[in-house]
Amino acid sequence: MKSQVSIVKCAAYKQEDLFPKVKEAIELIGGITKFLKPNSRVLLKPNLLMAIEPQRAITTHPEFVRAVVRILREIGCTMYIGDGPSVFGDNIENIYEVYERTGIKKVADEEKVELITFGKRFMHTYFPLTEWVKECDYVVNLPKFKTHDYMILTGAVKNLFGLIPGTFKLECHKNFYQHEKFANMLLDVYEAVKPALSIVDGISGIEGNGPATSGTKRDFGLIVASSDAVSLDTVLARIMNTHPDYIYTNKEASRRGIGTADITTIEIQGQTLAASIISDFKLPETSLRQTIKNKLPSFIVTFLKKYIYFHPNINSDLCRLCNSCVENCPQRTMSNKGGKIVIDYARCISCFCCKEFCPYAAIKTKKSLLARMMGI
Ligand code: SF4
Ligand code: SF4
Repeated sequence: MKSQVSIVKCAAYKQEDLFPKVKEAIELIGGITKFLKPNSRVLLKPNLLMAIEPQRAITTHPEFVRAVVRILREIGCTMYIGDGPSVFGDNIENIYEVYERTGIKKVADEEKVELITFGKRFMHTYFPLTEWVKECDYVVNLPKFKTHDYMILTGAVKNLFGLIPGTFKLECHKNFYQHEKFANMLLDVYEAVKPALSIVDGISGIEGNGPATSGTKRDFGLIVASSDAVSLDTVLARIMNTHPDYIYTNKEASRRGIGTADITTIEIQGQTLAASIISDFKLPETSLRQTIKNKLPSFIVTFLKKYIYFHPNINSDLCRLCNSCVENCPQRTMSNKGGKIVIDYARCISCFCCKEFCPYAAIKTKKSLLARMMGI
């Protein structure tokens, strides 16, 4: 059977409009009871990257989460909402600041849904996962539609990375710093978690140098849903007007036979793909390197790799010395030297975690000379 993805237009987060649109997105692919049994325990996993207001479009909008809560309540589910953003490492109590500022706490309180933390964990092969994955019958994945400096897209597969608790996420960046290896690790998480359903909040999101403050907010006006996160990301790639293979997780999923990454074999319901493609969508600057990778033979890419690279670069005028980047650099290659953040580039793995964690968009992308000469 073909993998199904629904696309529904939705312009705003007004609950009276949003609820029927989210419901429609689910109905178009078979209805909620096709994916979840009534009266089950469900972990809702939004993207709560950092403590920031929902209007910035960096986190899954609380009204979007509310709509899903109400849909699941109709079939008697007991829900738990949680995420484990890397930015606070093992300092689990700080997640409450994230819940507060992203507006999730207010919605959880009003809807009487328990907000959880990922303190308890279990080892699944080589990475830990929150115990809540085992304690709940299903995981419902609620990603935000955003670009990502490192993975190009932070969609349905990437969103599950937050189920790895605490600082182990930084270990993953350190241990799997090549793009393909990191993508494969994300796919291993996806296979371990197997979310029953993914529903993307693409009403507003981030283009350009996402996924955080360096990206640009844009109103996409879309809700995209599927039980196959790989198919969903494949459709998102086309909406971004790029080739699905340019998204590392799609390319690796296709190679490993996980989900459906072939756009021609995905059945799209609702608004057509042609009507959904954003022709002037801005990819991250780093994606151009990926474009080259896909177009040139691998031996040329291997040779050029030494000369075409991207590094983070601190803009001291914007930096407020909050130390978030220093504390979260997986390589411990950043330091505060006399009131200035410096990077030891010899040990930097260009994972761009620092850029993701910077609340003030003070970290930019620095291109190598050859990259600039080639107009990349
Ligand atoms: S400096 Fe930034 S890009 Fe380099 S390793 Fe540290 S977090 Fe990653
Ligand atoms: S996270 Fe941003 S503002 Fe904070 S110290 Fe690093 S560069 Fe400066």
